Amino acid sequence: MILESKEKVVVLGAGIGGLSAGYFLAKTGKYEVTVLEKAPVIGGLCASFEYNDFTLDYGAHKIYSVIPGVLDEVRRLMADRLLTLPKKHRLFLRGHLVDYPLKLGNLAGVLGLTVFSRLGIGYGVELARGFVLRLPPRTYQDYMIQRFGRPAYELVFEPLADKVWGDPASLHPEMARARVPASGGMEVILKLLGLKKETAETSAEFFYYPRAGFGDLPAAMKEYIEGAGGRVLLDCDVIELIQVDGKIAAVKGAVAGADVEFGMDYLVSSIPLPILGRLVFGEREKAFTNAVEDLQYRHLVLVYVFANRSLALEDQWIFFPEREFLFSRVFEQKQMNPELGPADRTALCCDFTCDEDSWQWKATDEELAQRTITGLVEAGFIEAGEVTGYLVKRTRNFYPRYDLEYVEKMRKVSSQLQQVKNLLLTGRIGMYNYNNSDHCVDMGRFIANNLARGDQPVDIWNALEKRVADYKIVD
Ligand SMILES: Cc1cc2nc3c(=O)[nH]c(=O)nc-3n(C[C@H](O)[C@H](O)[C@H](O)COP(=O)(O)OP(=O)(O)OC[C@H]3O[C@@H](n4cnc5c(N)ncnc54)[C@H](O)[C@@H]3O)c2cc1C
Repeated sequence: MILESKEKVVVLGAGIGGLSAGYFLAKTGKYEVTVLEKAPVIGGLCASFEYNDFTLDYGAHKIYSVIPGVLDEVRRLMADRLLTLPKKHRLFLRGHLVDYPLKLGNLAGVLGLTVFSRLGIGYGVELARGFVLRLPPRTYQDYMIQRFGRPAYELVFEPLADKVWGDPASLHPEMARARVPASGGMEVILKLLGLKKETAETSAEFFYYPRAGFGDLPAAMKEYIEGAGGRVLLDCDVIELIQVDGKIAAVKGAVAGADVEFGMDYLVSSIPLPILGRLVFGEREKAFTNAVEDLQYRHLVLVYVFANRSLALEDQWIFFPEREFLFSRVFEQKQMNPELGPADRTALCCDFTCDEDSWQWKATDEELAQRTITGLVEAGFIEAGEVTGYLVKRTRNFYPRYDLEYVEKMRKVSSQLQQVKNLLLTGRIGMYNYNNSDHCVDMGRFIANNLARGDQPVDIWNALEKRVADYKIVD
């Protein structure tokens, strides 16, 4: 019997994007997979870590998907390592917790008759405009006003979007489409009135969560890759991509300080585009450098507050659109699984995004913690005297920010990188796609299945770019 030798694939980055690609490639049985990770741990933003007797995630992470087959894949991989949880999340508005997606009945009590009527009139005006003349939305702002009316936009969506992405008038409508699945004015109104139900496509009623913390999902992928004869190497510094005849033939680097070189047939990258660009082009490709440096991102900040009480919330997470609160969302780790922390204490993770030049990014950890604690006390979730400590984590450039020209910019970036014939991109940062982990799973599956079928990387890349444009983030 002649054994067919496997083709070699190197994957850069062991976040959920890189590991999903490695997992599905290994699963085809056709590839020898090597995943190279810069950090000493796997998982990227989908990792969990131990701190202060807690297992903590990097903000609220649920496993949910409307992409056919993705949840089946996760269930097959994780089996009894998964919990199934009913989703409990709300919005904190004017001192009250209201249902999210919004419901008029619920809003009426909170906002009072005057504001509530203004919302109703706003919907009506936009609905009527829709029947007469409506231009396609040019910005996030246009998109949201057309669907919800200006008063609701100004009350909820504008401040929340401003907190998460900055000025919504300079945001591409795609940013709204990916997050707001309701299709038209009438549908929104019917849902608000409770006459039409949210569906699995627009709001998750349940979700999966790994019993041992979200990081157990990337851990299960790593186990599979290694079980299939592949490698996941940590502490790896990629120094050079050796190119021969328009292809990357090998990667040179150092793993835990020792020099290494891996030959390959294909390279799949989930690392930031500017870093990949420098490895591929050095300083020689100005068009690429200009385009890639023009892509906008937001930094992520997570402030964990530890308190002497068993639980602080009734929800898994709560959105905070109002500007007086520093954070955009509060997440309670023990709502996912009470065993992830001590019985008599809790950990709240408050997340927000900001720019390099913002006061938030420049503020000290202590200032951010103080503001966060004040907000949590004001919201009535904890008392100041219960706080036992805090932890601040910062990640640069994690949120792709789709500005009005991002499609053009990405086209330039892709066309330059596609000069490399055996390269593929995946993941949120690697592909500059504002997405969730289920989308990263789908990207990995798509790449592996099409490569194994014999498709050329450039064709897979182009098809994947079209596919990711339809991804939706379901809250
Ligand atoms: C607050 C918050 C809430 C979220 N909620 C959800 C949710 O509910 N459900 C959900 O599914 N998703 C959620 N997400 C999104 C999810 O975290 C991302 O989709 C996912 O982490 C993206 O994975 P990635 O592999 O593309 O990127 P990353 O996680 O950033 O991984 C990239 C990896 O590449 C490594 N790397 C970087 N440079 C190099 C280099 N030069 N060489 C080698 N390795 C390198 C990094 O160290 C990292 O490990 C949430 C994200 C945030 C921030």
